[in-house]
Amino acid sequence: MGNQDAFLEIWYTSMIVCGIISFAVGLIIYLVHNFRVSLIKDFKAKYDFINANEVRWYKYAFMAVAVGIGFLINLYGSNESGLNKVGVWFFVRMFFGFSGATLVAYVANLVLEFYYPTKLNSKLKKWRYMPRVNPKTGHKMRLLSEEEEDVHLDQGRQAEESIFSIDYDVWIDEKSGDTKVEKYDGHLTALKCNNCGFYTMRVIKEEITQMYEDESPKELVKHYKCAYCRNIRATAFVISKKEADDYKDHRATVRRNTKNIDLVKIEIHSILSGKRFYEFPTVAQAQKFLEEFDIDKVSTS
Ligand SMILES: [Zn+2]
Repeated sequence: MGNQDAFLEIWYTSMIVCGIISFAVGLIIYLVHNFRVSLIKDFKAKYDFINANEVRWYKYAFMAVAVGIGFLINLYGSNESGLNKVGVWFFVRMFFGFSGATLVAYVANLVLEFYYPTKLNSKLKKWRYMPRVNPKTGHKMRLLSEEEEDVHLDQGRQAEESIFSIDYDVWIDEKSGDTKVEKYDGHLTALKCNNCGFYTMRVIKEEITQMYEDESPKELVKHYKCAYCRNIRATAFVISKKEADDYKDHRATVRRNTKNIDLVKIEIHSILSGKRFYEFPTVAQAQKFLEEFDIDKVSTS
């Protein structure tokens, strides 16, 4: 047995060891992240933690797995007796190992960047709309529904370059009148892109387009851009002058909770034209559709 055989033996052993370590590191990163999520008791804190960390840590986990695959590729042909001396093949195989690892990491990145946010979005929604419990009384709280177009500007963030709007979720304990107000940063939330369907639409710019008489902002236009298909969209919002404190005296009687609804399906049966199905992302849109619906204007094609 020559020197090179000994070298190859050490090489193969270390590839196996490094490969196993890499896979273990990937698995540990995944488990540690999910363990940290499970330790957070407050739903809003859980939401923020997942929103800020999950994609990043899953990327690290997949990177470790990719490196592990790179090591394993360097085991290819280790049983073939013809390859017992280091030659050009050895470096070609190293190159393939490196390329394989890069490819796996690249694909994992694409999946986490574009496909995964759809799954992440429903996960985040679950925590955002999970009924809160009043810590003082133990009563279940109810989420108030705000008019969709009501947005708020956070006082601290009104600096010219970053006027990102804030969503307020107001939870009320109807028995005691206690409220819990949770703030959601507009620019941290990814929306569904109407063009490609991924949850990759984010605010890139906001501008105040109308003022109240006292010169406080009245209308805000948000410009969104999809990170996947580059589709852009702009939506105007009326800025509410309500502050979190204004909800304190609120007694919910007429307000309904329609926030945690993902899909409204309407099925219209007609004797002449048969069944029709319509889907809407919000109750408001479905309502608007029903108000304007005219069976004569629906083509029978
Ligand atoms: Zn898109």
